[in-house]
Amino acid sequence: MLRRYDEQNREALGAQLHVPLTERVCPICDHVAMRAYHHETYGRTTPSWINYLWCANCHAYSSSFTAAERKMVESDPLLTEFGDRIGEIFDNPERLLKILDGYWKTGKLPQTISRRPRGH
Ligand SMILES: [Zn+2]
Repeated sequence: MLRRYDEQNREALGAQLHVPLTERVCPICDHVAMRAYHHETYGRTTPSWINYLWCANCHAYSSSFTAAERKMVESDPLLTEFGDRIGEIFDNPERLLKILDGYWKTGKLPQTISRRPRGH
């Protein structure tokens, strides 16, 4: 059963931004089970990220759209597997999180995040 983090939950998550992802506590079930996935997309002029943050224990999640700035992900297992059909997966969060948990299990997530070289 999926549940979206509400405003208050997201505030609690935001307050933990300084700690590593794997040490953050889920504000709904109190488990240390946070996972994240980033998909890079090319918006109008600058690279952006679609971000999913979810709890592996209770499957609460939130999604956001942010500027990638100088960060880039070194791999995107979802894009590798689904290519152009990735939009269909994003439209179905229940399926999405199931797939992402699978990637986590096999070590394809979490992604390595690096700095974008200048001039790109
Ligand atoms: Zn949880």
